[in-house]
Amino acid sequence: MQIVETVVEMQKIRRSLKGSVGFVPTMGYLHEGHLALVRRSREANDHTIVSIFVNPTQFGPNEDFDRYPRDYPRDFALLEKEKADFVYLPTPAQMYPEGYNTWIEVNGVTDRLEGAVRPGHFRGVSTVVNKLFNIVQPARAYFGQKDAQQCVVIRKMVVDLNMNLEMIVVPTVREVDGLAMSSRNVYLSPDERQQAPVLNQSLELAKKLWLEGERDSAKIRLAMVDLIKQSPLGKIEYISIADALTLRELEKTESPALISLVVRFGKTRLIDNILLGKP
Ligand code: AMP
Repeated sequence: MQIVETVVEMQKIRRSLKGSVGFVPTMGYLHEGHLALVRRSREANDHTIVSIFVNPTQFGPNEDFDRYPRDYPRDFALLEKEKADFVYLPTPAQMYPEGYNTWIEVNGVTDRLEGAVRPGHFRGVSTVVNKLFNIVQPARAYFGQKDAQQCVVIRKMVVDLNMNLEMIVVPTVREVDGLAMSSRNVYLSPDERQQAPVLNQSLELAKKLWLEGERDSAKIRLAMVDLIKQSPLGKIEYISIADALTLRELEKTESPALISLVVRFGKTRLIDNILLGKP
C-alpha cells in the first residue's frame, strides 16, 4: 500500500494505472462502515484508492473541524489489512492553495435537511468530491447510505455534470446495538453512548408502523418522538419523512420514502436514516 500526499504525485500514479479504479473518499478515523466501502471497491475494481481528507470547506465556523478525530497510523494499518492499493492524503493547502476560488453548488436537494441547518456544508462536499474525482478519475466511487442526503447530492452532481463514473451506495454498517457507526461516536460519554441506539430504534419503529400500513407521516413522526423522549440525553434536531429522490417532505409516507433524523447528545450530532421502499 502506497501513501500519496500531493496532487501531482496522485495524478502521475493515476496515469500509470491500467484497468479500473475504485475510489472511497473518507475523512479518516476509519471504522467498519468505511471498511465495507473499501471491500466493495476491492471486489469490483483492479485498484482501490482511499482518500483521507478532513475537508475544511464543509465545516461551519462553529463546527468540529479542529477537534474532528484523526489517527493516521491506525487508519493506515486498517487499510493495509484490507489491501487498499493507495491512500491519498492531501493537505488543505494542496486542495485549496492561496487564491482558490471555484465552487460546485448542487441546488434544490441541498436546501433541506442537513443543508438547511449546515449552510455551505454541501457546497464544500460537492466541491471536494468533484476535485477528488478529477484527481483520481475513478470508474466507480463508493459512498455510505448513512449520509443519505450526501448520496442524493453527489448523485445529482454526477448526473448533471455528465461525470463518467458509477456511484455505488453501500448500506449503513451498525454496532451490535444498532447505533450507526460514525467517527463522531467517540465524542459520546458512556451515558450518551448507552442511549444513542434510540435513533435506530425510532427508525425501526417507523418502519414497523409503515409495514403495518400507517401512511400518515405526522403519526409516524409522533411515535418516533415519543420513543426518543424516553432517552433524556437525546435532543431531537429534526425528523424528516421525505421523498427519497427529491427530499421533499411527505404528508403521506408513500414509497420510496427516506426517514432521516438528527439527535444531539450534548455537543454531538448523531445522524441516521432508513429507506422505505426501493428508491
Ligand atoms: P466520512 O469519513 O464520515 O466522511 O465517511 C466516508 C464515507 O463512509 C461516506 O461515504 C460515509 O457515508 C461512509 N460511512 C460512514 N459511516 C458509515 C457507516 N456506518 N456505514 C456505511 N458507510 C459509512
